Amino acid sequence: MIKLHDKVFTPYLKEEEILAAIERMAEKIAADYKNEVPLFVGVLNGAFMFVSDFLKAYQHPCQVSFVRLSSYQGLTSTGIVETLLDVSDDIEGKSVIILEDVIDTGRTLKKLVHLFSKTNAKEFKIASLFHKPEVYNGEYTIDYVGLEIPDNFIVGYGLDYNELGRNLREVYQLKQQDMINLVLFGKPGAGKGTQAEVLKEKYNLKHISTGDVFRYNIKNGTELGMLAKSYIDRGDLVPDEVTIDMLKAEVEKNQDAAGFIFDGFPRTEAQAEALDNFLESKEMKVNATIALEAEDDILVARLLERGKESGRSDDQDESKIRNRFDEYKQKTAPLKAYYEKQGKFHSVNGIGEIKEITERLSQVIDALK
Ligand code: AMP
Repeated sequence: MIKLHDKVFTPYLKEEEILAAIERMAEKIAADYKNEVPLFVGVLNGAFMFVSDFLKAYQHPCQVSFVRLSSYQGLTSTGIVETLLDVSDDIEGKSVIILEDVIDTGRTLKKLVHLFSKTNAKEFKIASLFHKPEVYNGEYTIDYVGLEIPDNFIVGYGLDYNELGRNLREVYQLKQQDMINLVLFGKPGAGKGTQAEVLKEKYNLKHISTGDVFRYNIKNGTELGMLAKSYIDRGDLVPDEVTIDMLKAEVEKNQDAAGFIFDGFPRTEAQAEALDNFLESKEMKVNATIALEAEDDILVARLLERGKESGRSDDQDESKIRNRFDEYKQKTAPLKAYYEKQGKFHSVNGIGEIKEITERLSQVIDALK
């Protein structure tokens, strides 16, 4: 498994399979062209690895050149494919074979055919290492195909996802991840934030900490920050309406996330119900609520220690800390029963090394899949 930007990809085609397909293409093309000197034209950027391995497999007289096309979004009358490097003009009378890395819908191909039909080449043929017949519009014949593949997003062997992945020797496909939404539950200082930072990387999830969002807003002097500050400073909960709206906005901002870790939310039954309803409206759900368990005295010591470094005012005063625990006992602890009723409540020992605790949480998460 590899991660490029925000997406996870799994191995799909091994280097040997790709090279074997290229050998077969080279043999077929050689059978048709070995008695002349064809001009192979690679389509940049994606085809650079293919062209290199193809030429190593094609050991007959030939020439090589490149064109460069780029799909671009912008509103133009010319369409979505732009020519960055044009066909050289000495192709008169030559047999041209275009080497493409992948043909899917056929939009780029149309542009290529257009480019070459203006030239005085003797003929031109199209060879594509990968071809997605399910989505191809079928406008032109593709003369040589390496491998037919399903319509999955692929990277590697020259192909990129937002410019990353071109240097991979194998081809990977996008992993369609089932969404997992987790609630990390526990008293202040239980280690929710620390564990969420690790789990979000491990499971490719978006971490939403309502406490962090409030602190960010306070730091930036926003209206929301000013509203929340007095409650937070006292160690009281911020009112539900404010917190719920903020949480919804955070989820909306991350529409393409593969799942969420909710840290510090929900903290009241009204929040839990609002979360369930909101997720249901998006055809999502909480998959599990996992509590990190630890005794109060250990937590108070941890929080006072954290307060020295972080400067968080609510972590520096034992009476405020005790008030947060009281809020927890009164308003948040009943959520255990709420999630138990749904069969989603899990509890994990929150004392130990960070790694050990991650291991305990992972066992619960892995069992959900
Ligand atoms: P935390 O960083 O999760 O310990 O949160 C710090 C403070 O932010 C809490 O003591 C509350 O005042 C406020 N807060 C964070 N999350 C919530 C929530 N879900 N509901 C109400 N207040 C919250």
